[in-house]
Amino acid sequence: MIPGPFTYHRPRSLAEAVTLCAAHPDDGRALAGGHSLVPMMKLRLATPDHLIDLGAIAELRGVRREGGAWLIGATTTQAALIADAGLAAAIPILRETALQVADPQVRSCGTLGGNLANGDPGNDMPALMMCLGASYLLAGTNGEREVRAENFYQGAYVTALAPGEILTAVRIPEPPPGHGHAYEKLKRKIGDYATAAAAVVLTLAGGRIATCAIGLTNVAPTPLLAEDAALALIGQRPEPAVFAEAARRAEAIAEPTADGRGPADYRRRMAGVMVRRALARAAARAA
Ligand SMILES: Cc1cc2nc3c(=O)[nH]c(=O)nc-3n(C[C@H](O)[C@H](O)[C@H](O)COP(=O)(O)OP(=O)(O)OC[C@H]3O[C@@H](n4cnc5c(N)ncnc54)[C@H](O)[C@@H]3O)c2cc1C
Repeated sequence: MIPGPFTYHRPRSLAEAVTLCAAHPDDGRALAGGHSLVPMMKLRLATPDHLIDLGAIAELRGVRREGGAWLIGATTTQAALIADAGLAAAIPILRETALQVADPQVRSCGTLGGNLANGDPGNDMPALMMCLGASYLLAGTNGEREVRAENFYQGAYVTALAPGEILTAVRIPEPPPGHGHAYEKLKRKIGDYATAAAAVVLTLAGGRIATCAIGLTNVAPTPLLAEDAALALIGQRPEPAVFAEAARRAEAIAEPTADGRGPADYRRRMAGVMVRRALARAAARAA
């Protein structure tokens, strides 16, 4: 329960943090809210020699609109996302999902960037970012690059972050006005990770589904974009039989493992149930 020894760094600027992370690509770790990393350190599953705290870097925090997109700084907490009225009006599914992350105490410290960079398949935000077509801004000594959320996750806890690189912000294109949305999460109790969860964003035109994206949480080693399931909906009326076919296709790509939340087959079936519920709620909300 006691972490190994480490040197604590508190850089004041992104440039300073990038230099520190680059100096310790293998034995250093960025620290954001600490709600995933510190428990791992206490269990000695992570033993960094250098901890680079991003908390004092003002440029990594905050929410702003730029062009047709929203830029959210990596160290913006889930609580700050929930409290941002402009963001909630433009991308309501973000607030809906953030409210399902853990509990108020965790959300007051846990950051969006930490949730996305950790690569934990149980985290709720990555599948949502895929569903929203978001991309991640990464900074390292070789400069900046932007990686789409759907290309970022490579395996459980394995991401496209290069050693020493920092996630600085997330760019989310604003969904069109009148879009429908829903995040459905099955969990055993408040504060639990998902048994299975689904994010849906869709638009209707002339009573038919015009666009749709579906993301799945915690039913595979990485978050999943259920593209084939979404394809089945395009041009269709939002009806239960159509949702059932999409759910069937979503279940087909799920690869959950058995854990305390249930056997693999149950969790796969629950992924389908979450997709059906999210589609029905999103369609009912769409103008
Ligand atoms: C009791 C409990 C319940 C929880 N339940 C849920 C839940 O239901 N859903 C959910 O989604 N999450 C849940 N979490 C996880 C929580 O949301 C974490 O806070 C979050 O996943 C990590 O964010 P953090 O800011 O705490 O990151 P940290 O713990 O500080 O960092 C996590 C990892 O990401 C890296 N990292 C952090 N920021 C950056 C960055 N900017 N650039 C590069 N690397 C970075 C760190 O080096 C570390 O490896 C729970 C946590 C707890 C303790």
